[in-house]
Amino acid sequence: MTDWREKESKYFMRTGKRMDLVAVRGEGAHIWDEDGREYLDFFGGPATISLGHAHPVIVDALTDQAHQLIHVSNQFYSIPQLKLAELLIEHSCFDRVYFMNSGAEANEGALKLARKWGKEKKAGAFEIICADDAFHGRTLQTVTAGGTERYKTPFGPLPEGYLHVPFNDVDAVKRATTSNTAAIFLEPIQGEGGINVPDDDYFKQLRAWCDEQNILLILDEIQTGCGRIGTLFAYEYYGVEPDIMTLGKGIGGGVPLSAFLAKEHCAVFTPGDHGSTYGGEPLTTRVGHEVMRYIIENDIPAQVAKKGQLVERRLQSLLDRCPNVAAVRGKGLMWAVQFTSDIGERITNEALKNGLILNNVRPNAVRIVPPLTVTEEELEQGLAILEHVIEADAAATAK
Ligand SMILES: *Cc1c(COP(=O)(O)O)cnc(C)c1O
Repeated sequence: MTDWREKESKYFMRTGKRMDLVAVRGEGAHIWDEDGREYLDFFGGPATISLGHAHPVIVDALTDQAHQLIHVSNQFYSIPQLKLAELLIEHSCFDRVYFMNSGAEANEGALKLARKWGKEKKAGAFEIICADDAFHGRTLQTVTAGGTERYKTPFGPLPEGYLHVPFNDVDAVKRATTSNTAAIFLEPIQGEGGINVPDDDYFKQLRAWCDEQNILLILDEIQTGCGRIGTLFAYEYYGVEPDIMTLGKGIGGGVPLSAFLAKEHCAVFTPGDHGSTYGGEPLTTRVGHEVMRYIIENDIPAQVAKKGQLVERRLQSLLDRCPNVAAVRGKGLMWAVQFTSDIGERITNEALKNGLILNNVRPNAVRIVPPLTVTEEELEQGLAILEHVIEADAAATAK
């Protein structure tokens, strides 16, 4: 049998450590490896496989669209792109949208928009206030906006104009604000940072500050958007309307699709300002349209909210029972279990051996972001494996 692990270490750039799984097939919340072993996928991308693997809606859209028209230049009108645009605008607080291929690219577009807005409407303001532990992608601008030093320092000199403050600290934002501040750029709930959930009034206070100071509020909803936390978009949960929002991951259900959306007052691009060869092509936007329509028509956010209560209940009992669990946090189907020490990788590896795919989002925490379509039964199964692994680890360490 082919040794894929050996091929990877021989041919592939060294950018990360892989989990010990050669994935060959997926269906719903399940993945199968090359030996036919079945796993429950509570990682899903992360948070990308919104409708699960091989959902018929996605498979049909891909197949049908591939026969019709995979790609056409953005110099032409494209029906799937315009249908998805209409759906997103009708179901959000925004007026205009542009499609890209990845989360980082959507954020780049949003940042360019904010810079141009600052130049034209706020006397050249260009500074962007970001958060520690934030994650916005891997391009030079987005690693600079992100909060992880390890992701940026090897690549300097870095772009200018990014300031960092602690997440969930309104006063820190106020102190960092100057007449040069163009935007505040945040995730509603930090994903890669470890599922950090801010206070319920954090964004309301920031919204008021932005209004007072004439600053744009940009929310990176690449992980929280499209039903993930139990509302269609996280800004609805927090009761604010951002000026700009980015989407990625779940919107394509696994195909490379992302978007940035803006209110009319800051949609300042004019012809020639931005573009993308693949961004918004018929194939991916057709899938995105079917995914979003499925999420909206089946009220997936409400189902996610209900499933989230189940997850919360079980994780809470884990916190009460297990001495190695320090905290549980999250909303909807976006959760993390934090441990009292750096056992995230060990727990993830053990869970994998027991048929559950997790992600050690931090050295001391694992993340749970299953498909939105995961059943309650599958959730119970997966969480039972997680509980077993955490309890066994506590018992082994106690010896
Ligand atoms: C994953 C993620 C990104 C980057 O998306 P890519 O598609 O990997 O470029 C940006 N922001 C957030 C919040 C994310 O979770």
